[in-house]
Formats: sequence, C-alpha cells, structure tokens
Amino acid sequence: MKEFDYIIIGGGCAGLSLAYELEVNDKLKEKSLAIIETREEYKRDKTWSFWRVFNHNFDDCVIKSWNNFTINTSEGFHELSNKSFPYQSINSEKFYKKINSKLGLNPNVSFFKNINEINSKNSLIFNSVFEGEIDKSKLWQHFQGIEIETPKNIFDDEIVNLMDFNCDQKNDVHFFYTLPFSKNKALIETTWLSNLEDQNLMDYDLQLENYIKNNLGIKSYKINFMEKGAIPLFYPSFKNKNKVINIGSAGGMTRLSTGYTFLNIQEHSKYIAKNIDKIERVKFFNLGKKYQFLDKVFLKVLENYPEKMPMIFFNMFKTSSNTIIKFLSNKSNIFEDLKIISKMPKLIFIKALL
Ligand SMILES: Cc1cc2nc3c(=O)[nH]c(=O)nc-3n(C[C@H](O)[C@H](O)[C@H](O)COP(=O)(O)OP(=O)(O)OC[C@H]3O[C@@H](n4cnc5c(N)ncnc54)[C@H](O)[C@@H]3O)c2cc1C
Repeated sequence: MKEFDYIIIGGGCAGLSLAYELEVNDKLKEKSLAIIETREEYKRDKTWSFWRVFNHNFDDCVIKSWNNFTINTSEGFHELSNKSFPYQSINSEKFYKKINSKLGLNPNVSFFKNINEINSKNSLIFNSVFEGEIDKSKLWQHFQGIEIETPKNIFDDEIVNLMDFNCDQKNDVHFFYTLPFSKNKALIETTWLSNLEDQNLMDYDLQLENYIKNNLGIKSYKINFMEKGAIPLFYPSFKNKNKVINIGSAGGMTRLSTGYTFLNIQEHSKYIAKNIDKIERVKFFNLGKKYQFLDKVFLKVLENYPEKMPMIFFNMFKTSSNTIIKFLSNKSNIFEDLKIISKMPKLIFIKALL
C-alpha cells in the first residue's frame, strides 16, 4: 500500500484550508499528501461568516461584506459600525471549488475515501474528524438557516442583524440571525444555545416561517438554499496520539462562547504550514488560555441563567465596535477585555467562578 508524508483526515473546512496553505507555501513540492474524505461530492453546505480581523486566502469566495451590524431584544436595539474589520460571509461551494482545483494540479496530492486504503504507519496525520458518540446532554449551538429570495426589495443590505432575541426563548437561549446578501436575498437562521435533547426546540422550519412572516413581515418568498448544523460548545476529548494533530472543530478551533471557527481554522492552518518541518516540537496552537477561561465562565452563566442572556449579549455590544469585534475574534488586549467584563452583571459571574 502507498505511503504518504502527510495525511489529512476529513477534507472539510479545516482539512482543505490546511492542504491549501501547504500547497500555496510550496510545502507539497517534495512531500506527498493524502486527504481522506467520505463525501461523494462537494456542494454548498455552509455559509461561513466572521469579522475579517486578518487577511485570509478566500476573498474571492466572499458572498458579501458588511460594515454595520445590529443586535436587539424585545426592549432595545443597538447598531454598530466598523470600517476596519468588515463582517464577511463565505460560500462553501466556491471555497471547495477553489481549493480542489488548485490541489488537482499537484500530482503529490491524492484523495481517498478510507484511511485503510493507504499505509499510514509512518505519516504525520492531521485529523478533523470527531471520535466516538456525540454527547447530546452538553451545550451546543444548533441552528437552521434558509436563504430566501423575495419578489420585492425588502432588506437593508448594508446591515447584518447578528442577534434578534425578540422571540420565544423556551427557557433556553434563542435568537434569529439575518445576513442580507442583497435587497431581496437574505440568509435567515434560527439559533439555539442548549443541549440537543429537547426536540421541542428543533421545529426549525416552523420557527423560520413564523419569524419571516410575523417579525420581518414578509409574505412571499422562495427558498434558494438551506443549511443546518450543531456546533459543540465544549472541547472534544481526544487521547493524545503520536504523530496525530487535531485540526478544525475537532482540534479545539471553535470559540466556545460564539461558535466562530472559520478564521481560527485559517490561523491554525497558517501556523502548521509555517512550522510543518518541526510541527511536533513547536508550541501547541490554541485560541489562548484567556479566552478558554472567560468562555468557560460565560457558558456557566449561560447554563445557570439562560433568561439573562439576551440582556448580557445586548450589554456586551454597548462597547465600541473595535472592542467587541476584537474580543469575539480572540484579538483583544487586556484593556478591551476589561471593558467587556465591566458590562457583565458582576454577581452572577462571580458565582459562576466559585
Ligand atoms: C452549517 C454550519 C454553518 C457554520 N457557520 C459558521 C460561521 O458562519 N462562522 C464560523 O466561524 N463557523 C461556522 N461554523 C462552524 C465551523 O466553521 C464549521 O463547522 C467548519 O466546517 C468546521 O470545519 P471542520 O473542518 O472542523 O469540519 P468540517 O468542515 O465538517 O469537515 C469535516 C470533514 O470530515 C468529513 N468526514 C466525516 N467523517 C469522516 C470520516 N470518518 N473519514 C473521513 N472524512 C470524514 C466530512 O465529510 C467533512 O468534509 C458552521 C458550522 C455549520 C455546521
């Protein structure tokens, strides 16, 4: 069986981002790479959005960028603007196509469906696939989004609505998210922060239908695209294995308080590509102990006081746009952290620390 220098398990966002980073940095000229991916075909399955706090490789896959965003509860509304760090959405189909066509030109890169088809004994492995059963009792961000198209121009396509808490929370945390790609096209998502055991929260079709009709006042539309997912808001437990480096969500690249993962994956891929020849000896890449600690406290508050979360999120956005964006994108300094912390209700956060 054929041997490879590198193996990437899972050719999704992290696997392909890493392969692309290796390819464009000429790390696959004299090394071979096998990508193990089970899917039959690559099509649009996700919309990845984030604040562009640093340059990435996928500007040509961006559907739209925005400089304005809002958050609202039933009691208030808050709008922020930022020209330095636009909010961007990436079309996964364009992303997959761009990377796969680039990799297709390199004879040192091969795709397989199963790792048993190759000899992996001496390879350095990058793994993006979760092991074992999923734990439904833990905290997840679960959601469904639909891209709708309306016959008339309805949306303000200059403003993203990040969180609209003006909806039934059912003793958990629930909001809607609207990304207006144009004046008559938007991705609208119903999002829950809860465990995955309560089926009552999962009638997503109905939630979207009611929100679009009653909150957005849209009577007529067609659905162009649907995406659905559940992002674990806890770190996966992995046994440390020799010559295996976990990447992507499975490698702890999700920011637990928000679910944002895409840009962290890009940063991790750049780090691996830069250090590939000594990757097992360099410092382990993570999102930063500070954010791990702060997010742990935040999620404890979320689990204990779900009813307070709309107000907590709302107040968090009362800082400057630079502060909130940098904090949520793991790029804040200590002064910016303190500004965010000062907006939090002290007593319940102190209780969560005990
Ligand atoms: C619908 C959706 C929308 C999201 N939106 C955002 C967003 O807006 N912003 C953001 O920052 N994050 C977002 N995320 C979170 C995160 O960015 C994505 O989940 C991202 O795809 C994670 O990359 P990954 O490589 O870890 O996992 P994936 O992209 O899921 O890649 C894993 C790959 O492994 C393959 N696979 C599975 N089992 C096996 C196996 N046994 N052997 C080989 N291959 C296997 C899968 O087919 C898949 O291609 C979203 C997640 C989802 C599900």
